[in-house]
Amino acid sequence: MNEKRYAIVLDTKKCLNCKACTVACRVENEVPHEDGAYRIWVTALELQGKFPDLHQDFEPSQCQHCQNTPCESVCPTHATYKTPEGVVLVDYDKCILCKACMTACPYDARFVHEHHKAIDKCTMCYHRLAEGREPACVETCPTKVRVFGDLNDPNSQVSKLLDTNRYYRLKEDRNTNPRLYYIIK
Ligand code: SF4
Ligand code: SF4
Repeated sequence: MNEKRYAIVLDTKKCLNCKACTVACRVENEVPHEDGAYRIWVTALELQGKFPDLHQDFEPSQCQHCQNTPCESVCPTHATYKTPEGVVLVDYDKCILCKACMTACPYDARFVHEHHKAIDKCTMCYHRLAEGREPACVETCPTKVRVFGDLNDPNSQVSKLLDTNRYYRLKEDRNTNPRLYYIIK
């Protein structure tokens, strides 16, 4: 099989909430420093345990690159589309800023890019993938929370991680079939 099926597998237990991923993404993709403009974010989950044995987990997130794409279905101009590898992208030139996709996305993954006058979101750093490089967040994370790869390659690290670990995906009840997988530990 020649076609690739890109995915990201995350081990959130490794996340330090250092936000290096969000900074790397902002620099790589020229995400503006404006309120609500983000392609990637880290949520601090509830504190667990009792003082002094407290513990907190962090959940990095971004566009889930759903394969059942509500954002794509509602887009009247087909500005939102999927690449052959399953990466969900936005064609700025076709976007009329109706914001239907922002409402349809269950993950709040989209924002208005004021400079491009179009909707923006995580692209899995598609421009880097074409050069054989990993997404900036994957490369930068000091603890390697994310692993990027091809699900159609049984020897890829993502395939092996999913074969040998239990995992969940965000908001599975929405039937979006995301390509981001969160390992359960
Ligand atoms: S760079 Fe890695 S460790 Fe730091 S916040 Fe992002 S995912 Fe967590
Ligand atoms: S997370 Fe939102 S923007 Fe990304 S593919 Fe899914 S519905 Fe679309």
